[in-house]
Amino acid sequence: MPVDRRTLLPLTPVERPAAVADVAVPGHAWLPGLGRARLSDGPVAPLKLASGCDRRCAFCAIPSFRGALVSRPPDEVVAEAAWLATQGVRELVLVSENSTSYGKDLPGGTRALVRLLPRLAGVPGIDRVRVSYLQPAEMRPDLVEVIATTPGVAPYFDLSFQHASPAVLRRMRRFGSREDFLALCAQIRAHAPEAGIRSNVIVGFPGETEADLAELEAFLTEARLDAVGVFGYSDEDGTEAAGYDGKLPADEVAARVARVSSLVDELMAQRAEDRVGTEVEVLVEAAEDEDFECTGRAAHQAPEVDGECVLARGSGLRVGELVRAVVVGTEGADLLVTPGERLPRSELVASGVTRESG
Ligand code: SF4
Repeated sequence: MPVDRRTLLPLTPVERPAAVADVAVPGHAWLPGLGRARLSDGPVAPLKLASGCDRRCAFCAIPSFRGALVSRPPDEVVAEAAWLATQGVRELVLVSENSTSYGKDLPGGTRALVRLLPRLAGVPGIDRVRVSYLQPAEMRPDLVEVIATTPGVAPYFDLSFQHASPAVLRRMRRFGSREDFLALCAQIRAHAPEAGIRSNVIVGFPGETEADLAELEAFLTEARLDAVGVFGYSDEDGTEAAGYDGKLPADEVAARVARVSSLVDELMAQRAEDRVGTEVEVLVEAAEDEDFECTGRAAHQAPEVDGECVLARGSGLRVGELVRAVVVGTEGADLLVTPGERLPRSELVASGVTRESG
């Protein structure tokens, strides 16, 4: 019989670190020296920040099976990062259900991520630290600034807005509006005009009107996001929204997904075109062969969910190399780039030369 994991830990976040010793949390309790092997040998690795979530979005079942938020102690995260660097990793992707809540159950509270990011960026051998799963309602100016401006931290914002109509967001048990989210995008770009911003949206949520959908489309058009995942609403067992009235027929949900997806594809391609002529730093993840081009990702592109960079043939680049490149064209959300200077790993420049960006 599945148990609601939220009931396994105290409601009060600061009481959880003591209680967590009795509750198995996958991916936590990493110990240096413990026999451990990576599942891949690529230059990018996920690094777990926390598990669980204390929010109660009406459509989401994650808190019921992942439980309350439990953060890994910062020293443990940094130690694992250092180990990953010895295994050839140059980019860390920090994962959790909600990274903006990281540290609320630790001494020092929610500023823990602001303090942790520069430490991770300073780990010898790590050239890029990327944060995923930021909750828009919990973004604070100091966190925006540290992600946008810290050398070695990718100026990349993975913000699941989910919608832009205040009425739909309230029924989702979330916060915000088109104006709020545009202001957040402007705040990010004031620090880092080239910052990447990606998002997910849900269309066809119960009670979503034509005016709500138009509000979402207006937001997406104004926001100029780099990548957007569009999902059609469907019931998740045990969630509050599953019991809502105002459900839309499945074919209407599918039609709205198609409509917003078509808009988003066009907007993402336009945003990519905006980057033509700019300089990016590309971490190579696939070398070229007879059939495939050499590909990698710039700081504004996360693995698997965003576009990628396609490097001009004949560069001779190997997997794991970091290279400056100029954007010369686009293919949808992907960038065609001409490689230039190869960048050494951070440990090689630690004695005096400052890395320019992450
Ligand atoms: S959608 Fe994200 S923030 Fe909301 S409850 Fe689920 S995991 Fe938490």
